Amino acid sequence: MALRVAVVGSGPAGFYAAEALLAAGARVDVLERLPTPFGLVRLGVAPDHPELKTAARAFEQTAAREGFRFFGNVHVGRDVGHDELARLYDAVVYAVGAQSDRRLGIPGEDLPGSWAATEFVAWYNGHPDYQELRFDLGCERAVVVGNGNVAIDVARMLARTADELAPTDVTEQSAAALAAAGVREIVMLGRRGPAQAAFTPPELKELGELRGADVVVDPADLELDPASEAALEADRARARRNVDILRAFAARPPAGKPKRLALRFCVSPVAILGTDRVEAVEVVRNELVAGADGTIRAVPTDRRETIPCGLVLRSVGYRGVPLPGVPFDEGRGVIPTERGRVPGRPGVYAAGWIKRGPSGVIGTNKKDAAETVEALLEDARAGLLEHEEGDLGELLRARGVAVVDYRGWQAIDAWERALGEERGRPRVKLTRWDELLAKARELHSVR
Ligand code: NAP
Repeated sequence: MALRVAVVGSGPAGFYAAEALLAAGARVDVLERLPTPFGLVRLGVAPDHPELKTAARAFEQTAAREGFRFFGNVHVGRDVGHDELARLYDAVVYAVGAQSDRRLGIPGEDLPGSWAATEFVAWYNGHPDYQELRFDLGCERAVVVGNGNVAIDVARMLARTADELAPTDVTEQSAAALAAAGVREIVMLGRRGPAQAAFTPPELKELGELRGADVVVDPADLELDPASEAALEADRARARRNVDILRAFAARPPAGKPKRLALRFCVSPVAILGTDRVEAVEVVRNELVAGADGTIRAVPTDRRETIPCGLVLRSVGYRGVPLPGVPFDEGRGVIPTERGRVPGRPGVYAAGWIKRGPSGVIGTNKKDAAETVEALLEDARAGLLEHEEGDLGELLRARGVAVVDYRGWQAIDAWERALGEERGRPRVKLTRWDELLAKARELHSVR
């Protein structure tokens, strides 16, 4: 008999796991809290990066395979528990990503006007839980903390012109708010130097091509210490290319575009200042110190500076959240696994960011999920997996859960694309729970 596997989470890791399992002959039910699949491909990838969203095409093919079912609008831990899934399926694979953000741990972090970048991303991408947020975009200067690709994404979205955003799938509400924004300067803060930045060269290079913003780098920030110089030799693919791009930016006179995007290095925020809301960020200048193992750390000096601003986007990494009944490593914010297996819990697995932490690009999850599925199939061959009689669909129906199946999602997708076509955009996203659920149901009523 075919293996029965529940995959919790329908982002890249969940879909790559489902694909590998289906290829091995398993029957796979993918459970998703939202009415829409594809996780960060729909709700995380920046709207102006449509090429990264093409991963969804492969996921659509997976969904069309025999043995695949989608259970959208199903909240594991509320509508169905881990123990119930463990009974109904031979194996449960958690691929829930990292749904929270890392904290800076500094005074003022929770002042109004200080946001996790992940909230801003979820808002402009149309995540239905984030549509009530109101970002104060009327201020002159915004500060983005962090030097990763998410920091670049949010800085770039703030710098984009209305014309640049018009042909994207950014939500209509956020497009209007961004077009009306008063932000004229975006300052991105890296705690270490240019040779240690986490962002990748193509994303960095793109900042130099913005129609409405000059990218500004202080040449003094690019004078490297010997350890960083050595790092350039060791990492020619990223560090060397990033530094070359930054040197080209620093050498370029500003073209007088309406906005400025300033990239600063070796500065850490020590406090977010303001009485009722954000008024400034206090930063400390760092020195770089090479440790015995070669890692380069930022060590604060006594030089401080205050940067007035009205908006702070903290972009220092995502963090996983625990699931009821499933082991969790609080320190790392992940489900602890060995090659995707949760030790001591036969039949429980993890894949993607909740397994390895929030790193890598979409494609990284393919290899990651393959490793997990390999361990799962080994366990199946060893006779370690079993399930009881019963069907998730029946259980959820009996509980009155309004499941959105794959055809329900296709109805949402078709409607969004059709409206997008009328307006010269890839899609116009539905962003409210009630709209999404109603659109998914419409199809069922005409069946
Ligand atoms: P990330 O790449 O891990 O970057 C996190 C940044 O935050 C690093 O620069 C880190 O600096 C900094 N940081 C951490 N703690 C800090 C602190 N206390 N104070 C100041 N800075 C701090 O994470 P991410 O940007 O959230 O991206 C997550 C993953 O998604 C990455 O793998 C990324 O490449 C990927 N992604 C890819 C794309 C794309 O392909 N276009 C777009 C978005 C995201 P240190 O290095 O000093 O720790």
